[in-house]
Amino acid sequence: MFILKNAYLVHENKTVNLLVNLNKVRILNESLDSFEQTDIIDLEGKMVLRGFSDTHMHLDKALIGDKVINQSGTLEEAIKIMTSYKPTMSDDDIYERMKKVIDMAYDNGTRYLRTNIDIDEGIKLRSLKIIHKLRDAYKHKMVIESIAFPQDSFLGNEENFKYLEQALKQGADVLGGIPAYDLDPRQHLKRLFELAKKYDVDLDVHIDETDNPNTLTIKDLISLTKTFDYQGRVTAAHCCSLASNDKEVVDQILKDAKSAELNIVPLPSTNLYLQGRGDTKNIRRGIAPIKSIVYDHKINISIGSDNIRDPFNCFGNAKPLESALISAHGAQMGATEDFNVLFDAISKNGMKIMHKDYHIENAKFFIVIDSTSPRDAIIGVAPIYGYMEDYKFILK
Ligand SMILES: [Zn+2]
Repeated sequence: MFILKNAYLVHENKTVNLLVNLNKVRILNESLDSFEQTDIIDLEGKMVLRGFSDTHMHLDKALIGDKVINQSGTLEEAIKIMTSYKPTMSDDDIYERMKKVIDMAYDNGTRYLRTNIDIDEGIKLRSLKIIHKLRDAYKHKMVIESIAFPQDSFLGNEENFKYLEQALKQGADVLGGIPAYDLDPRQHLKRLFELAKKYDVDLDVHIDETDNPNTLTIKDLISLTKTFDYQGRVTAAHCCSLASNDKEVVDQILKDAKSAELNIVPLPSTNLYLQGRGDTKNIRRGIAPIKSIVYDHKINISIGSDNIRDPFNCFGNAKPLESALISAHGAQMGATEDFNVLFDAISKNGMKIMHKDYHIENAKFFIVIDSTSPRDAIIGVAPIYGYMEDYKFILK
C-alpha cells in the first residue's frame, strides 16, 4: 500500500492524494492523518498520468541505421533498400531490436505503443509473430498494438495482399496502408476498408508522405471512411502534402476530416529529416499543419516517434517528450497553450486512438513526471520521476 500526496492529474486538471491498495488505484478523499508517514510520498504537484502514447512506430526496422545506409536521404530510397534488406533479418535480430526499443520507450514513460509491422512476401509474418510475443510478455505493464503494414504495396502483387489478410487472422490489432505509393491509391484504400471491416479492426494509414501538393489521397480516405461507416476508427499518419497546399485547400480537407472523425498523426521527427529533399532553398518542413488541425478544426491529433535510427530516420530515442519538443520547433509552437496541445498529443490523444480511458482511477499502471506543467516538461524533456508497476511504486 502507498499514497502519493499532491499528485497533479494533468489530464483531469486536479491535484489529489492517490491511494494504491489491494491492487486498486483510487483518489483518496479522507484525511491522511490515519496513515503511516512512511507510506506517503509527497509529489509536490508533479504530473501523474497513465502514461505517454507513441501511436506510430516501426519497431521491425529500428536500430539498423548504421547497417543499411540511405545515400539520398529520401523516402523512396529508404523503401527500396529495405525491400532487399528485410528478408535477410534473422528472427533473433528482429526480436532483440524490438525489445530494446520497447524497453527504451518504457523507460521514457510510454505505456501505449502502436507499431507498424511490414507484411509482404519478403518478410512474411515473421516480424508480426515476434511483436505479438512481446505484446503478450509486456501486457501487465503497457499496451502494445500491431499494425499490419503493406510497406511494399499490394496492387499487382496479390501475394502481399494474402499475407495482409493472414496477419489479421493471426491477431494483428490494426490494418495499415500506404495508398500514395501504390498503383491506384483509391483502389488500395478501398480494399483496405473491405478487409478492415471483415476483421473488425481499425485502420491506421500512411497518408501522403510527399511534398507533391497534388497527392491528396487523404480525400479518398475521408470519403471512404464515410462510405464504410468507419467514423472514429481511422487514423491518417504523416499527411505531409497538406504542408505544400494553400490554406483554403487545407481548410476544406480538414473540415471534411473532422466530419469523418479522422485522427491525424503528424510525425515531425522523421518528416523534418525526409521532406523537402528536392528543395534547394527555403527547404519545406513537410509537417502537417498542427496548429490549424487542432485550433481551427478540433481534430484529434497524436504525435509519434515513427522511425528510430533506421534508413528512414537516423535519429530517435523513443522519447515522447523529445518528439513533442521537436514538434514545437518544427511547427513553431511556443505558447503555453501550444505545449498543452503537444502534451496531449503524446499522451491522452493517442489513448483515444487506441480506445483507452485516461482517467487515473482503476489504472493498471501510471507514471509520474518530474515536472509540474506540460510547458516545463517538454522544454526540459523532463525525466520520469517514478512509475507504478504491479501496483508497486518504483522511484527512478
Ligand atoms: Zn511510418
